[in-house]
This record gives sequence, C-alpha cells and structure tokens, in this order.
Amino acid sequence: MVDKNIKKIIKILDSSEYSIDQQLIKNHCIDWRGHYIGNSDLIVFPKTSKKISEIIKICEETKTPIVPQGGNTSLVGGSVPRKDKNEIILNLKNLNKIKKVNLIDKTITVESGCILQSLKDNLEKYEMDFPLSMGSKGSCQIGGNIATNAGGLNYIKYGSIRENILGLEVITTKGKFISNLNSIKKNNTGTDLKQIFIGSEGTLGIITAATFKIYKKPKEKIVLWVGSDEIIKILELYSFFTNTFCDQISSFELMNNKSVMITDFKKLKVNTQKNFYCLIELSNFLELENYQEIIFDKIKNIKFDFEDIIIAKNENENKVFWNIRESIPIEEKNAGFNIKHDVSIPLENMGSFIKTTEKEINKFDFAEIINFGHIGDNNLHYNVLIKKKKISQKLIKDINNIVFTNVKKNGGSISAEHGIGQLRKEDLIEFKTSFELEQMKSIKRIFDPFNIFNPGKVF
Ligand code: FAD
Repeated sequence: MVDKNIKKIIKILDSSEYSIDQQLIKNHCIDWRGHYIGNSDLIVFPKTSKKISEIIKICEETKTPIVPQGGNTSLVGGSVPRKDKNEIILNLKNLNKIKKVNLIDKTITVESGCILQSLKDNLEKYEMDFPLSMGSKGSCQIGGNIATNAGGLNYIKYGSIRENILGLEVITTKGKFISNLNSIKKNNTGTDLKQIFIGSEGTLGIITAATFKIYKKPKEKIVLWVGSDEIIKILELYSFFTNTFCDQISSFELMNNKSVMITDFKKLKVNTQKNFYCLIELSNFLELENYQEIIFDKIKNIKFDFEDIIIAKNENENKVFWNIRESIPIEEKNAGFNIKHDVSIPLENMGSFIKTTEKEINKFDFAEIINFGHIGDNNLHYNVLIKKKKISQKLIKDINNIVFTNVKKNGGSISAEHGIGQLRKEDLIEFKTSFELEQMKSIKRIFDPFNIFNPGKVF
C-alpha cells in the first residue's frame, strides 16, 4: 500500500516523474562499489526546479527525508538511501538542459542533472572545454560534481570544480531558491553563500543549476609516460616539470606497479618492471607547430634515465596511456575487496608517507597496495587489496588506522576529493575539532531545520 506522505508527493508529479516500482528503485539503492545497500518506496525524477521546490515543502511538512542523487558514482556511499529510514530518492537526471553558452565572458549555464561528458561534448563545437574530467565522466552529473567538490584529472591546472563556479542555483528549506547564475568573476557582496553548498554532499539543499567558467580547447595535448623505482625521483621530476612547463601541465598522475599490472597494460609495449609510473599531460595553447621537439629539447636536461621516459607520438598513443590510468578504478573493483583511502599529503612528505605506510601494511602478508592518483594535487588513492576470503571489521579498522595515523603525522587529509558520505563519518570526528563539527552542524540547522536533506551522511 502506498504511504500517505508518498501520495502527497506523487500528486504534484506527472507519471514520468516518479516510480514506485521496486525493481527500478532497487538499482538506485546500491552504491557504485556495492558496499551500501538501502531501500526506498519512492524515486522521483522531477523535470523542473519548481517541482523540486514543491517536493521539499511536502517533505518538510511530512518529515520525509530526501536523498539527492546524480549519477550515483559516489565512492563513499553518499548518494543512496539507508535501510528502513523512509527516505525518498530525488534523482536529477531529468533536469539536464544547457541553458546558455556565453562566448564573450566564456561561461556556460547548465542544469544540475546534465552528465559531465555531455557538457564537455556540447562545448566541442565552440572549440571550448569544461576541463573537469574523471573516470566517471560518462555517468556523473554536474550537480553531483558540485555537491562533492569534485577534483579529477586536470586539477593541477584548473583547480577543483569550486574554482570554476561563478554562479549557483540551490533550493533549500521551505522550498526557497538561492539563485545567482551570474557570469561575473568579481562579486564581493558579503558572504558568498554558494561556497557553503559546494562540497556539502546534499546535506543542505538541492543544487539545480550552475554557471561555470569555460576554456579554449588546447591545440594539442602531449602525454608522457615515465617509470622509476624511486618515489623520490618522481618527486624530483615533478619539480623539474612544474619549473620548466609551468601551467602547460594539465595532469600529473602517479601509479604504482600493482595498479598498472591489474589493467590491460600489455597495450603499453613499455617496460613494466618499475615500482612507479607517472602520466604527465602537457597542453599546447599557443599553436606551436613543433611542440613535441620543444618538449624533447627541454627534457634532455633532466637527470633521468631516458629509457624510462616515453612521449606519445599522436592522439591515439595519448589515449592508450590515458586508458590505462582511467581503467584502474574499475579493474581494482574487479580484482577483489579493497580497503580504499582517498588521502592528500604535502609533496614534501609524500616519499616518507609512501615508504612508512607501505612498510606497516606489508606486515599483513595477504594485503597488496594499489596506489595511484593525482600526485600533482597531493592526492593519492591509497587502496589496500585484501587477498583473503573473510574480512573482519577489525582488519578494516587496523588498516585504516595505519593509513590515517600516517596521514595525520604528515599533515594530510583523510578525504582529498571523494567526500565523507557514510564511509568516513567516524573518521571525520577524529580529524575535526569538536568546535569545527559543531559549527558545521549549526550551518546544517540553518538550511535544514527539519533534517530532511541526506540525513546520516557526513555527520
Ligand atoms: P552522486 O554519486 O549521485 O552523489 C554524490 C553526492 O552528491 C551525494 O551525497 C548526493 O546526495 C549529492 N548530490 C548529487 N546530486 C546533487 C544535487 N543536484 N544537489 C545536491 N546534492 C547532490 N571523484 C573525483 O573527485 N575525482 C575523480 O577523479 C573521480 N574519479 C572517479 C572514477 C570512477 C570510476 C568513479 C566511479 C568515481 C570517481 N569519482 C571521482 C567519484 C565520483 O564520480 C564523484 O564524486 C562525482 O562528482 C559524483 O557525481 P555523481 O553525479 O555521480 O553524484
């Protein structure tokens, strides 16, 4: 029987904007990693922001919790309902229009359910790009990207999504809109409310649209693949590259040997015996005809064994290298149970973090380290593959403890880009002061006095 609160919501929607079919709802109740499985009696797919506003009003009145859901690619269990909490899922896929492309100010205004790849594809015809990119770009949505303050593969040059948002539209308590879809870069008019919603993981309201900076597409991109046995040499290489190529560097990624070995690495046709690999991408904006030669000339000065540096010859080779890097998350999911960490460490401490943590993890003979990430942004996905059938909560806790103690010692963060969701709630308490947590909760009470927006996530 359909609950009376659900009936009230359904009443304002047309039949293509909701479902109570358990078969369909089930798929939206399980997270990407398959670790969090909840349930729900209703999923809604509203087509307008006005309808979202109405839904929020009903949910506040009936105390019905809402789980905002984009592409459901969260790696921390942020986008799925919990078990038996009477939560409804508000999926944004129908709110997906490109509202405006402004080529003078170089901005785009888009609804939040737009898939990241569609936004990028839409800009191709203008020879422009929205530079946020990540392995989940074919399914994640702009709203989810904003709610998690997504980082991704080009952070080193363009920053996180936060740095690229000029305007935001959010619907919050009482179904009220905060809407400033501006194309202006400068705007010092008191507290910048949009910043509070970026990275708030759906706990303060529903993001319905945004205005972003867009950029000229580079004339060409050149990818370099570098191998070394020593992490310290990779860090020296990073220094050389950032000093030499400055903001032409659009990605600087690290992969340890194990993370490359789980992929279809044979396509690489390169030495795969090294402990670490780097993928470095340089972007040519100046339309220099001999960009490859310029790069080659510069890197001749690096004190590095040249056999270990390969420059992709063309766009196809670029893709081969990128496919290896981008396939790691899915391949490690197939490889078995991973205890995942998304940490950031100052680069000056990265070498000692990797060495010490590895030594401590290696005490468990059934554990293998899959270590990759956006090293140019201090960000490592420090994942531990467990080759064992029975995995206890105690083991997970012990491994987390090793990683996070070393994160703390080295002045890092326990969540670089994936957020807190359900996975890191307890760890957050360890890493924030009680004053900080209390202030965060006070902000939540202002925008969500009835605790209906994604309860049980972050806090
Ligand atoms: P969802 O997973 O649906 O939701 C994420 C959070 O945002 C939830 O808390 C949800 O409630 C909230 N939310 C969603 N939409 C809205 C909205 N409109 N309003 C309010 N709240 C909302 N992340 C990175 O940062 N960098 C990476 O490089 C990266 N690589 C990835 C690679 C793979 C293969 C996968 C599976 C994930 C990766 N991620 C990465 C994580 C994930 O893709 C990002 O967090 C992404 O931004 C989530 O977008 P989504 O639309 O899937 O959001």
